[in-house]
Amino acid sequence: MTETASIGRYQPNERAALAETFDALHLDRLSDLARVDAPERAAIRAVAYKGHAPFGPAEMDLLPSLGLIANYGVGYDAIDLDAAQARGVRVTNTPDVLTDDVADLAIGLWLMQRREMEQASRWAREGHWKAKGEYRLNTQASRGTAGILGLGRIGRAIARRLEGFGMEIHYHSRSEKETPGWRYHADPVALAEAVDTLFVALVGGAETEGMVSAEVIHALGDRGVLVNIARGSLVDEDALLDALEAGRIAGAGLDVFRGEPDIDPRFYALPSVVIQPHQGSGSRQTRAAMAALQRENVAAFLDGRDLATPVI
Ligand code: NAP
Repeated sequence: MTETASIGRYQPNERAALAETFDALHLDRLSDLARVDAPERAAIRAVAYKGHAPFGPAEMDLLPSLGLIANYGVGYDAIDLDAAQARGVRVTNTPDVLTDDVADLAIGLWLMQRREMEQASRWAREGHWKAKGEYRLNTQASRGTAGILGLGRIGRAIARRLEGFGMEIHYHSRSEKETPGWRYHADPVALAEAVDTLFVALVGGAETEGMVSAEVIHALGDRGVLVNIARGSLVDEDALLDALEAGRIAGAGLDVFRGEPDIDPRFYALPSVVIQPHQGSGSRQTRAAMAALQRENVAAFLDGRDLATPVI
């Protein structure tokens, strides 16, 4: 019986690599675990996990020999770390290899929102350029002020890119960092007040849930734009939608949503919102690197070597 399970919606090549390397038992959903025979479950020591469904005590208890959850992705907020720790289960993620892609997407969301690129493209495709003339004037992106909420790997990569656009950089994290002149704010509301675009690059989870509150959104103001490439749970979405609908903020660029992919339909009706289907790390090159790093963590665990990128 195999010691490894791959759980989640993997690309066919990723799934094949997990099957070839580890003879992994594959399940599309975490909830399918309960249907696996008890002896087969009892043999599983490592899970290569790709998904956002909560991986908590109930799921861990279905796998009595579990020693590793190797997460596909840097954000491990779906995995209950306390429950894992209590059972002696190690957890790994895939940091760094996806940083550039996610930062690129954040910049793209910002530029698309400010320069109305989605609507302008439609203007040309639908023949209005030829029939009615040039597209309406929009808002300059460069040379403004940007706030980074969460100056970690991805937050820094966004800030470095923004410097190339002549932006003044402000940020909030749990602690002040050494930066090339970027301005620290101890409070997210003060950060939002100081900038015209707020980029959210925080970790998800209970501690940061709703940190982009109604107050933060209000502080961003009617010329402000919110860009979120981190997690939907970080934002008070009702407050965001109310502010967008009332024009109390200028717009948003969002790759992540609460309840995704079943997102609040109010977003679809708002032309000031650029929507991406959680594809921040979704280039072929980055996904290949993430899948390889996940496999390296599983292999290291099964061989008794040091884990490449441990969380706990
Ligand atoms: P990271 O290096 O761990 O950075 C996370 C940042 O969050 C750090 O700056 C940290 O502050 C800050 N933070 C954590 N708890 C906080 C709190 N209570 N208050 C204020 N700040 C807090 O992680 P990363 O690699 O940049 O990734 C960030 C997130 O992006 C991931 O967790 C994931 O959810 C998301 N993500 C999304 C996609 C996508 O496809 N859209 C892809 C990859 C990642 P300190 O620096 O002070 O510790």
